Amino acid sequence: MDLGIKGMKALVCAASKGLGRGCAEALAEAGVDLVLNARGAEALEATAAEIRARYGVSVVTVAADITSQEGRAAVLEAAGHPDILVTNAGGPPPGLWSDWDRDDFIKALDGNMLTPIALMKACLPAMMEKGWGRVVNITSSSVRAPIPALGLSNSARAGLTGYVAGTSRQVAAKGVTINNLLPGIHATDRADSLDRGVTEAQGITLDEARARRKATIPAQTYGRPRDFGAACAFLCSQQGRFIVGQNITLDGGAVNATI
Ligand code: NAP
Repeated sequence: MDLGIKGMKALVCAASKGLGRGCAEALAEAGVDLVLNARGAEALEATAAEIRARYGVSVVTVAADITSQEGRAAVLEAAGHPDILVTNAGGPPPGLWSDWDRDDFIKALDGNMLTPIALMKACLPAMMEKGWGRVVNITSSSVRAPIPALGLSNSARAGLTGYVAGTSRQVAAKGVTINNLLPGIHATDRADSLDRGVTEAQGITLDEARARRKATIPAQTYGRPRDFGAACAFLCSQQGRFIVGQNITLDGGAVNATI
């Protein structure tokens, strides 16, 4: 399918690995030029080189912490006025509801709520002026069904979801869509580190931890970043123009809900 976005420019945050990279690759496959960000320069440059070689698009890199004000400023300067914005950052650490104090919440809110909001505030005006724009926020299935060990994530992402619900409906008339993609478990470094946490807590092997988690997913497998990226690219397509303010769960059926 021709997504109709060849030659456009996308800013994809936190994209040297995992789900962000999956989104970057799918957009590149559709002919979109990229500005990619991550903190670690080495993995970022390697990813950028592979994408340039495979898809022939332009890829600009900015090694910076997207959750810091300076990092965002550097990334936004390099991106100019992107047609497409994909927000993403690392997720907060796991723990117990009683573990976290104010500082932990502020950090989680900064990373997973206030950072995407700041990026949208910076990019939306030019999109609205052009009469075309696409924003996809990578959040989590924890927005629909809380994950007990990820209370910081449950809380911060719920706040972002509320902001998107209201804002998406205020910019839609200008040809700009904002939607959230809610990953369930996907085979990435993040999933690995959560599974390793389970091996330590429960005294089981990594294979056992994975097998137990897979057994909780109706599809009985982990998601793949490239499939996740394809969903992102479709939301960013011309054909995605009527999808506004939605929360699309990609979780192999793990959230047991009728709608
Ligand atoms: P990942 O495999 O660990 O990849 C994270 C990517 O983000 C890396 O490129 C990392 O590079 C970059 N990054 C992390 N923190 C950053 C920061 N502050 N500034 C800039 N770049 C940053 O993680 P993932 O699995 O793709 O997860 C992406 C998001 O989806 C996370 O918020 C995660 O909580 C959420 N999520 C993931 C799953 C899953 O199963 N994978 C499920 C639900 C939700 P550097 O480390 O070099 O910065």
